[in-house]
Amino acid sequence: GLFINNRWAAPSADTYLTSSNPATGAELAQIAAGGAAEVGAAVSAARAAFATWSTASGHERARHLYALARGIQKHQRLLAVLESLDNGKPIRESRDLDVPLVARHFYHHAGWAQLMAAELPGYTPLGVVGQVIPWNFPLLMLAWKVAPALALGNTVVVKPAPYTPLTALLFAEIAAEAGLPPGVINIVTGGDQTGAAVVEHPGFDKIAFTGSTEVGRIIRRATAGTGKRLSLELGGKSPFLVFDDADQDAAIEGLVDAIWFNQGQVCCAGSRLLIQESIAEPFLEKLRLRMRSLRVGDSLDKGIDIGAIVDPVQRERIDSWVQRGLAEGGQIFQPDTPLPTDGGCWYPPTLLTDVHPAAEVVQEEIFGPVLVALPFRTPGEGVRLANNTRYGLAASVWSENLNLALDVAGQIKAGVIWVNSTNLFDAAAGFGGYRESGYGREGGKEGLYEYVRPAWQTRRQPLADAQPNGTPPAPRESAWGAHTPDRPAPLGDTDTPNGAHSPTNGLPHIDRTAKLYIGGTQKRPDGNYSRTIPGADGQIIGVASDGNRKDIRDAVEAADKASGWARKTGHARAQILYYIAENLSARADEFAARLAAMTGSSGAAEVSAAIDRLFTYAAYADKYGGSIQETVLRGMVLAVNEPVGVIGIVCPDDAPLLSFVSLLAPAMARGNTSIIVPSERYPLAATDFYQILETSDVPAGVVNIVTGARDHLAKTLVEHDVVQAMWYFGDAAGSAEIEARSAHNLKRTWVSYGQPRDWFDAEQGAGAEFLHAATEVKNIWVPTGE
Ligand code: NAD
Repeated sequence: GLFINNRWAAPSADTYLTSSNPATGAELAQIAAGGAAEVGAAVSAARAAFATWSTASGHERARHLYALARGIQKHQRLLAVLESLDNGKPIRESRDLDVPLVARHFYHHAGWAQLMAAELPGYTPLGVVGQVIPWNFPLLMLAWKVAPALALGNTVVVKPAPYTPLTALLFAEIAAEAGLPPGVINIVTGGDQTGAAVVEHPGFDKIAFTGSTEVGRIIRRATAGTGKRLSLELGGKSPFLVFDDADQDAAIEGLVDAIWFNQGQVCCAGSRLLIQESIAEPFLEKLRLRMRSLRVGDSLDKGIDIGAIVDPVQRERIDSWVQRGLAEGGQIFQPDTPLPTDGGCWYPPTLLTDVHPAAEVVQEEIFGPVLVALPFRTPGEGVRLANNTRYGLAASVWSENLNLALDVAGQIKAGVIWVNSTNLFDAAAGFGGYRESGYGREGGKEGLYEYVRPAWQTRRQPLADAQPNGTPPAPRESAWGAHTPDRPAPLGDTDTPNGAHSPTNGLPHIDRTAKLYIGGTQKRPDGNYSRTIPGADGQIIGVASDGNRKDIRDAVEAADKASGWARKTGHARAQILYYIAENLSARADEFAARLAAMTGSSGAAEVSAAIDRLFTYAAYADKYGGSIQETVLRGMVLAVNEPVGVIGIVCPDDAPLLSFVSLLAPAMARGNTSIIVPSERYPLAATDFYQILETSDVPAGVVNIVTGARDHLAKTLVEHDVVQAMWYFGDAAGSAEIEARSAHNLKRTWVSYGQPRDWFDAEQGAGAEFLHAATEVKNIWVPTGE
């Protein structure tokens, strides 16, 4: 049945799926398949419960989460057995890892419920959250989503994976038994259609998804323009680097855990072994020997190492990848230990060598017990190979030289790095990816921000003309649909004197068309177009360049080349931000006059607020580096706030200098490089600003300014693969376009849906939201001791 409002309900369409035991093929249960009606009922229940749950005290919610944790512990044996039966994973794993971690998540987040008022002041829960989860860690993925959501006052509708719904249903029963109020947790089981019904239901304030990158992309498109928040935990192809000075026996055991834990059906599986050439052969020989002793068998047998593959469909998929690897020239090793011969679904541990770095088996997620191995020579080459992937979920680094290991950990683009260890998880440390492994974190304080919003913000309203199925509205002809920008009548060559410049003293005026600022130099726009900028009184006060795609591409290239900015010390970045503030201060009157002429408002207050803001981020340049996570590990887990990379920033028209500085400065402070599109209506404060950048020692390419038609430029930016995040402060339709178009490489987006923001206000115009957007949290696990 479906679990809605603490009651069991039958699906209205009377459709059921079969859940079976992968180790035997035997049917375990018939599972209700919910449709749109059931999702609707669950949303209504969750919405009703939200009113009281979100206003309950933190302590009250903490008591409930604590009761859930206790309930899980009380039933841990049953949960572990059921998980292993339903999924096929070894009972040793579900008993010693999955279920204890589930309890740990509820205990840890009971603490966050208790501390929410103290630790997240000014934040409020999002509302009703739809959570769609995969089959590889059915109960653990549920806990990672449900615990933080509930702790912070949200209510949820969970859609378990079709292969493995049973522990979610048992969990529901435990929750009701523990006294959780009706409607706080609702479980709607079913297949992919049920997942789609959750994603498309307009009643959710957020969708949290864990699953494949392919479905993540579908969900990004489906939620674009709906105002729903989104977090995506997707696939991976994580590297496992072994250096020649590694403790090889430990690394071999690590590898067994990395790729044969849970039959390799692990999003962060160490599925790409990168091994230093000098030790490659003896290491691989040791590995083959170890593989011969791995036992494959029934999930309830405590003596096995590898259980059953979740379903014959998955098994076929794994095998077809292996066949493709062989066709690509790979060499295969599979130990000759026998597989069970009963009706179960088995696949032997598999090693593929002699594979090319670009081979599909090296690039694509196989999601099974298949390891590919490649050699590397130098640490630099190892890092390059490690990063040669569209994913960025996790990595393991093995070396007894901590200097080398930590240096490499810093260079790998992934959300979790395990030094001399692998597959360590804890509720106190965030988990989540870079790049196409998705965005958002689960666990750690960083994970809490996925379930709250600043209290001053209202829920973003869906686009009025969005289609009911969530597809974004038909593109507006202007910038998003047509390939030509909707620009004002071109003035011809920018050198041509024009209406803005009446001759003085009988001589023609010297043209002052503001240029673009790309790679540290002023550039004429590629198309040689410009636009006149009217002042507050309607008189033309200047001319700005009209950038095009080529200019954006040049700017992205310059920003990408300036990645050395990320390696500067926080102190050095702070010095440069102070220098910018100093130079702005020296020219404050000139900027104030420019602002007054453009907007008619008092420019002086805005310039002064912009200087204040530069000081704020100069301060944050060396005060937001990260923290130590207090996990259950003996050793250290470092949560490092890394730069996101190249950020595309599209500014609003409000407070054109202050909003420009308020967006630019946090990106710079935290080591990002950016391409910034200033206010379309009032661009001149930003173009004056490049003179300040030029005189403030800002390295070339760190900031690139392209003026012109906002949405036309935004479109090129969001579609550029090198741009890793898009901040768009424009209208709801443009925000919807940005979200939809971000799906192709799953870049992070931060869009405003046209919501006003008081840029002068310290809470709305600066602080945690900005710093969060400017950073990726990387968790580096460093075990210590023997
Ligand atoms: P999947 O994407 O096929 O399915 C995941 C969930 O989404 C299931 O509940 C499914 O029913 C639902 N779903 C499928 N199509 C949908 C649609 N169009 N709209 C809405 N929901 C839909 O993934 P899977 O095969 O269950 O799981 C394997 C994948 O999950 C792997 O790629 C793995 O890397 C990833 N994963 C990631 C993490 C992480 O934290 N990053 C953790 C576990 C698994």
